Amino acid sequence: YAPPDAFQNGWVRLPEEEAHHALRVLRHRTGDEVIVVDGVGGWHRLRLEQVDRRTVQGRILETRYEVGEPSYRLTIGLALLKQTARFETFLEKAVELGVHAIVPLITARTERTHFRLDRARRLLIAAMKQCGRSRLPALHAPRSFTDILNASEPLRLLCHEQPGRPRQRLHALLQPAIEEALVLIGPEGGFTEQEVQQAEAAGFQLVSLGARRLRAETAALVAASAFLLCQEM
Ligand code: SAM
Repeated sequence: YAPPDAFQNGWVRLPEEEAHHALRVLRHRTGDEVIVVDGVGGWHRLRLEQVDRRTVQGRILETRYEVGEPSYRLTIGLALLKQTARFETFLEKAVELGVHAIVPLITARTERTHFRLDRARRLLIAAMKQCGRSRLPALHAPRSFTDILNASEPLRLLCHEQPGRPRQRLHALLQPAIEEALVLIGPEGGFTEQEVQQAEAAGFQLVSLGARRLRAETAALVAASAFLLCQEM
């Protein structure tokens, strides 16, 4: 991986960490061909032409765009979870499932308001490289529930598992033509009744993911999988 500012006039200089990996772990040498993604949709085949103890630079031989990317843009708003490990599991798997952007949510029942952005970014980059994507999902700063209700995606859904309310199954709403959607998932304690009502008033549709109560990160990944299977094959 090399961010866009590592590219200049047909050359790429790998960031320090990636250069170290290329030299010490993969043992690349001058003349080797490698694939580098830029995280904004570019996939590049390079020939390494300057390799020394600290610097790895390559000349671009071929560029393609949107390699490994889905045709739709799904944003998941997942409440910050008490157990960071669960939120991080979600981050890694969300990349694999093609999620476009992630918004950590602060809701009435969230017990945490921050997370380690540097660590999260490293996880996202590793997952992007591992699964063959060319885009790094955007990881937004934590946003309040009331703020995200103003979002403008054409399809806006809130996952809610409370029995006794009329619900539609998520996948019943999905069709291959959907280009952009936002899905909200609550924290361990769920959304409050007031939040559910606010979301409905703001135009969100309530959706179910089946009869069982899923952990929040599982619910988020099931929602992402439903989009993936509906749209991409
Ligand atoms: N005790 C909480 C409650 O009753 O609301 C459980 C919350 S659940 C662990 C965390 C979040 O995952 C929920 O707020 C919801 O967004 C989502 N979720 C879990 N299971 C679901 C299901 N079967 N259908 C839809 N959403 C679900």
